[in-house]
Amino acid sequence: ISACWTHFDAKILDKQIQIKESYTDTFEVASDRYFLTIILHNLVSNALKYSPEKSTIEVAIQPQPQGTLLCLKDQGMGINPTEWATVFQPFYRSKAAQDQPEIKGHGLGLSIVSRLCELLGIQISLDSKEGGGTSIFLFFPAEN
Ligand code: ATP
Ligand code: MG
Repeated sequence: ISACWTHFDAKILDKQIQIKESYTDTFEVASDRYFLTIILHNLVSNALKYSPEKSTIEVAIQPQPQGTLLCLKDQGMGINPTEWATVFQPFYRSKAAQDQPEIKGHGLGLSIVSRLCELLGIQISLDSKEGGGTSIFLFFPAEN
């Protein structure tokens, strides 16, 4: 995921976003590098896009008995719990996002992400409240 930040350097500087990475080790997961890059780019792009200036985005990676958990947490506009499932559908944009027309999007990123996760066997979930930031969790099951 570190490689992702470089791609968004300009946006991070522009919004004065602080990136907090709470791990020191590198973690290896068995996956497809190309598709995983698409997944992470979309999630990082959302975190940056829906976050206010001078906020913090946190990345945590936790090894667990059954695999590895990656958490990407922002302090942005959040997603109402009634919309948690629908934001993964193509072309859906949350009411909160539509209320801010200067934030552009097609509503496609997360639908692509969820399909790729399904193909790669990655479990994706989210926790969020409207106005309370969003956490996205990716769980990479260990290979047997
Ligand atoms: P794009 O196709 O360019 O990615 P998009 O960002 O609007 O457009 P998705 O990435 O699919 O589309 O996200 C769907 C919707 O979920 C967004 O429109 C937004 O309402 C909501 N959303 C996604 N990520 C976040 C986030 N980190 N914080 C708040 N809302 C989010
Ligand atoms: Mg998006």
